[in-house]
Amino acid sequence: MNLNEPSPDLLRKLAERLGPKGFTADAVDLDPWLTDWRGRVRGSAAALLSPVNRDEVADIVRWAAAERVAVVPQGGNTSMVAGATPAGGALLLSLRRMNAIRGISHQENIATVEAGVILSDLHRAAEAAGRRFPLSLAAKDSATIGGLISTNAGGTQVLRFGPMRALVLGLEAVLPDGQIFEGLSALRKDNRGYDLRQLLAGAEGTLGIVTAASLRLEAAVGERIVAWVGMADADKALPLLRMLEDRIGDAIEGFELVPSVALELVLRHIERTRDPLAGKHGCYALIEAAFPSGTPAAREAIEAALMEAMERGLVEDASIASNEAQAVALWALRENISEAERLDGISVKHDISVPVSDMPRFMESATRQVEAAFAGARVIAFGHLGDGNIHFNVRSPAGQAAQPWFDANNAAVNRMVHDLVTAAGGSISAEHGIGQLKLAEFARIAGPARLDALRAIKQALDPLGIMNPGKLVPLASDPPAP
Ligand SMILES: Cc1cc2nc3c(=O)[nH]c(=O)nc-3n(C[C@H](O)[C@H](O)[C@H](O)COP(=O)(O)OP(=O)(O)OC[C@H]3O[C@@H](n4cnc5c(N)ncnc54)[C@H](O)[C@@H]3O)c2cc1C
Repeated sequence: MNLNEPSPDLLRKLAERLGPKGFTADAVDLDPWLTDWRGRVRGSAAALLSPVNRDEVADIVRWAAAERVAVVPQGGNTSMVAGATPAGGALLLSLRRMNAIRGISHQENIATVEAGVILSDLHRAAEAAGRRFPLSLAAKDSATIGGLISTNAGGTQVLRFGPMRALVLGLEAVLPDGQIFEGLSALRKDNRGYDLRQLLAGAEGTLGIVTAASLRLEAAVGERIVAWVGMADADKALPLLRMLEDRIGDAIEGFELVPSVALELVLRHIERTRDPLAGKHGCYALIEAAFPSGTPAAREAIEAALMEAMERGLVEDASIASNEAQAVALWALRENISEAERLDGISVKHDISVPVSDMPRFMESATRQVEAAFAGARVIAFGHLGDGNIHFNVRSPAGQAAQPWFDANNAAVNRMVHDLVTAAGGSISAEHGIGQLKLAEFARIAGPARLDALRAIKQALDPLGIMNPGKLVPLASDPPAP
């Protein structure tokens, strides 16, 4: 279905409705928001709209629908799949000015926030109220609640609290015809059939615009314990995780699997990092446990569990951070893997998932097969073991110019990795979504039942196809994938 450019009349009406702070068609103002975070896709838009409330959003969408003009919602623009990058002629709708925290209720244990609230601002507000919003990721100083909901973001605490979908209790949204969906409830139980809230979560802005949400909070963290362990091989990791859960319960929040090649890369490229253990090991894990204040003997429980793991041969050596600075230093080894990779050269990246119990086998076998198929290619596979989420990155052969290798092999590497993960019953997108960058591969792999259902939902809610076209739902009328 063809979409139109906004008419001069529509642009004039929008400028009047939103005022100078809420409307610009100036190329300089638009420029920073037209390229995706990774710098891989450059878009264009007719205007940047920055409403301050849901009624302004509803007018924008209703008027855009009347002219069949595309609307592209954007939060912090940190999408890893170019999900918020508009194609020509669209209205780029930024939610960043809708950034009020409407309230935090200790009794209900919820926060009610507008879509443009930045994640780290919510963390601070929850902390000030003696609570905690239990989802975090490296883009927390830019990513917004609306974007996090729309991508069903994951992050480092999914093992314990689930992804964004599990934390959304209620939603307020503007649907593609401009109607306002009043779903901002604090209900823990609500069984009125199809769940529009869950449909909008993870919809990547293709079914409407999230304007506010009520979100689940948790008890504040009193004590956080971070440990780094060395294991003989990755097969020891899952029995170790399950043993820790048996001993300590759901206080285990993070279990990151780090292969020795990733640690070596970080130690080589990142200043002020050091190996926490004296000897070398086949594989490492970063473990984080968090306890509410007043939990008796939390540290002793972790120490005893790791001691037992050593006696059972699951762990060869371990180091437990004894203060916050040491905890940060241990996390730096994990969080700097991507940066170390970047400093080492370009790589073909994948954010995939497989069943948790299959993760060590998949990492080993897919690494072997990809390295055999692409002579000299070097795989780094690391990730969140508890979620089966693997960052499977393939670097160019040592000593070979990275960019030409990337250009020549990117598509073929993608295909091979996606085929391997599909054969393993996994997903080609664990947490980043489909956006533009994975659209073609999603269309190739998803299968007719999934694609038909997706298209039917899209058609039912957005029959004009104006909401974030060219993302997530492969349609015949989409522009070709970049
Ligand atoms: C350094 C870094 C680390 C990251 N780590 C993780 C990680 O660990 N786990 C993870 O899951 N992701 C991660 N991401 C990806 C990214 O942070 C998430 O996808 C985030 O949810 C996007 O939020 P945003 O506000 O920037 O949204 P944007 O990038 O602006 O938009 C993302 C998508 O949501 C849509 N959208 C935005 N706001 C709305 C709204 N109000 N209503 C409807 N649709 C909307 C957009 O159209 C787009 O499709 C990381 C990104 C970076 C840059």
